[in-house]
Amino acid sequence: MTNGFRSGYVALAGRPNVGKSTLLNSLTGQKVSITSRKPQTTRHRILGIRSAQGSQIIFVDTPGLHNSSGSALNKIINKTAQHSLADVDLIVQLCSASRWADEDEWVLNKLKQFSLPLILAINKIDRLDDKQNLLPFIQEVNDKGEFMEIVPISALKGTNIVELIKTITNKLSAGPALFPQDQVSDQTQKTLAGELIREQLFRRLGQELPYATAVIIDDIRLDDKKLLRIEALIWVEKPGQKGIVIGQKGQTLKTIGEQARKQMEQVFNTRVFLNLHVKVKQGWANNMTALQHLGYSDQI
Ligand code: GDP
Ligand code: MG
Repeated sequence: MTNGFRSGYVALAGRPNVGKSTLLNSLTGQKVSITSRKPQTTRHRILGIRSAQGSQIIFVDTPGLHNSSGSALNKIINKTAQHSLADVDLIVQLCSASRWADEDEWVLNKLKQFSLPLILAINKIDRLDDKQNLLPFIQEVNDKGEFMEIVPISALKGTNIVELIKTITNKLSAGPALFPQDQVSDQTQKTLAGELIREQLFRRLGQELPYATAVIIDDIRLDDKKLLRIEALIWVEKPGQKGIVIGQKGQTLKTIGEQARKQMEQVFNTRVFLNLHVKVKQGWANNMTALQHLGYSDQI
């Protein structure tokens, strides 16, 4: 007997930059997925788990579905997104208020293929100058005839998140909790440490450079003074990029390291010592062996 308990897997889907990772963090109440203004910050399939009295929702944060361009990394990201969707009970597509872009339509067409219940979350409503614009937009997306429910939200401000959770929970079937109540993610400390560094790279470097970087955690261990010691490497593709990541007098790397460390201390709830270095690894983004080393291969 499950006593009316409900559980299920829910994918958060949508074009890059609509706020999937922000929503996942807001839904789980903890930073489980990194965010930035640049698309494709998310590369891994990530589970965020929300346990409540009577329900457990397991969220899958898909890397943005996008028209794949050539590189091996992009192909893997797209494959990961497709696999994330294959085994869920329900999909929440996100879009941005109040514009339905061609890319949103493209994502919707992909999602339809899975024949799963679809909910639309219209995100970033805090940005609307005139809330009156929301109604015609809801009408427009409703006319597509694909969404069981449409919920306007602001993932960033937390607006209407409770409503969204209720809507999702109502659509789930009866079932037991699938993870311990206190578990919020399936990521290891090592993966999360790497992601938190990548987040800073995305936030602090120019438009193109973050995509040419990868983060390797060489070592992570708690010493006898309860200090979490982390040795990390940032890979770049060209010598010139190394100089940019390090910055004048090492200032950029220093800031990246400091901010990542602060985030780690919060998330891991312990003091952190972070040793960060930059290394040139020519053409890593197009090199399958290198990608496998980074753990992308187990996503396919
Ligand atoms: P993803 O690519 O779909 O995972 O998008 P992210 O979660 O990384 O968010 C992309 C950008 O949109 C970030 O700069 C977020 O801070 C911003 N963002 C996300 N949700 C909201 C929201 O509700 N309101 C506003 N104003 N910005 C948001
Ligand atoms: Mg993301």
